[in-house]
Amino acid sequence: MVNLNSQDDKKSLHFLEQIIEQDLVSNSKVLTRFPPEPNGYLHIGHAKSICLNFGLAQKYGGECNLRFDDTNPTKEEVEYVDSIKEDVQWLGFQWARELYASDYFEQLYEWAVLFIKKGLAYVCHMTAQEVSDSRGTPTVPGKESPYRNRSVDENLMLFTRMKNGEFQEGECMLRAKIDMASPNMHMRDPIMYRIRYAHHHRTGNDWCIYPMYDFAHGQSDFIEGITHSFCTLEFEVHRPLYEWFLEYIAEPGQAVPKQREFARLNLNYTVMSKRKLLQLVEEKHVNGWDDPRMPTISGLRRRGYTAESIRTFANKVGVSKRENVIDVALLEHCVREDLNSTSARVMAVTDPLKIILTNYPENTTETVYGIINPENPNSEKRAIPFSRELYIERADFMEDAPKKFFRLAPGREVRLKNAYIIMCNEVIKNENGEIIELHCSYDPLSKSGSGTEEAQRKVKATLHWVSIADAVQTEIRLYDRLFTVENPLNTNEQEDFLSYLNPESLQIATAYIEPSIQNAQIGDRFQFERIGYFCVDKDSTTEKLVFNKTVGLRDTWAKVQNK
Ligand code: ATP
Ligand code: MG
Repeated sequence: MVNLNSQDDKKSLHFLEQIIEQDLVSNSKVLTRFPPEPNGYLHIGHAKSICLNFGLAQKYGGECNLRFDDTNPTKEEVEYVDSIKEDVQWLGFQWARELYASDYFEQLYEWAVLFIKKGLAYVCHMTAQEVSDSRGTPTVPGKESPYRNRSVDENLMLFTRMKNGEFQEGECMLRAKIDMASPNMHMRDPIMYRIRYAHHHRTGNDWCIYPMYDFAHGQSDFIEGITHSFCTLEFEVHRPLYEWFLEYIAEPGQAVPKQREFARLNLNYTVMSKRKLLQLVEEKHVNGWDDPRMPTISGLRRRGYTAESIRTFANKVGVSKRENVIDVALLEHCVREDLNSTSARVMAVTDPLKIILTNYPENTTETVYGIINPENPNSEKRAIPFSRELYIERADFMEDAPKKFFRLAPGREVRLKNAYIIMCNEVIKNENGEIIELHCSYDPLSKSGSGTEEAQRKVKATLHWVSIADAVQTEIRLYDRLFTVENPLNTNEQEDFLSYLNPESLQIATAYIEPSIQNAQIGDRFQFERIGYFCVDKDSTTEKLVFNKTVGLRDTWAKVQNK
């Protein structure tokens, strides 16, 4: 398991750490949980919750459970359960126990019966709409259900019949009998159980009544002995209800979990609700949950993000009680920093311009060497073939170059990285006047690392290149933001968020790469020198490597910070 907190020990404590430290005096061991509903793939927001729950448990010598909050059979699937487990482990965390709220259905049912027996719950025949209409508003009290005061025996009998499948969906429900005038709308006789004739991914058709979130979550925390139940701010208003149920369930003096809330992570230029992400997948606006443009953990992984960079990001955004939107440039900054120190360098040309070195022998290949990773002092070198015919990037040449253009131009010199200094002597065009190749000469004494005076001669630019005969032709997928606006959900109430989809979020191109790339495996990450970071995609075949661009080299976040 990774250690998230070592660098942070000396920093002041955030509010959740303060809460835990106060509790440590009375409590023996911190036990947290990460409680996803298996109704979609995890996204970067969940990563924050994962890092927080596992990280705090780790920091305080406790444990963290993975609990599937699987109380809604209509939206949940085994595929999601599997992907969630894979993503949590990939992020570098291991749960103490793998648990399912559905394993508590029997216990929850018994507790519901207990509430009925105490006169604290009743079977109500109003429709969901009627219940919602009778709830009132924050300033106007709700109206009591006509079924509110039926006898305990009648309620017990009706609830048993509900369980036995004697009612249709929507015909009745179990409600807590609390206070229809409470200033907290969640306390106005909230629904505890509803009828659903749906197949559950674990309990099959055993049940046709399912507990609501509020009658399952706190109870699950309690059953597992969770000490701190951290959730996002929207659950703050549910806290009195969470505590109300536990008050009747726990024995006097028995420890109950403490729910505390923190702000969700929001990221600009994307959407993060699973419902919206599912829509993008189902309507095929993206190619699946792990499409590299998605903010899902699997999408980021496929894009080339490292687990380390996501953990760093989660740490950097920190924990607060105030909602805010994080600039996606910070996430990009984190992965760039990590890949800079860890990824192998290769030269790749994406928009080739052919060069012929007219004074270089024909049919000859020599080997030059490049450092695999200059950030690593122990890095080894890689062999790169050099020959008479090369590709450079079209953008690295200008025929009528202004003074400030330091790259290749007629009569000017540049260095080819890890190789020689060349000069452009002649520009060859086709009948349409388009440049098709350059005739250059190389200086044989200027070889990089040869120590000659010529090799030390200063030229203004160093270009990446590949030997045409040796280059590996690959597909590269270049990504832009999925949405054209910072907040696709809030821009204009009338417009659908889909209207802000960026039609140019995916572009496919070709890259010619030095042959050291040949044995790259799916998931391997590289820096294409002077271009950016790329990762081998699972669509690669033995004939053709496919790369995803993770992120470019330019760091807009660092710029923002230095202003
Ligand atoms: P969504 O709204 O995206 O569907 P959710 O809250 O319904 O998310 P759950 O599976 O219920 O998703 O979430 C599991 C845990 O992750 C919860 O504790 C939830 O509070 C937390 N979580 C979800 N989204 C975020 C987010 N954007 N930032 C931080 N924590 C989050
Ligand atoms: Mg949810």
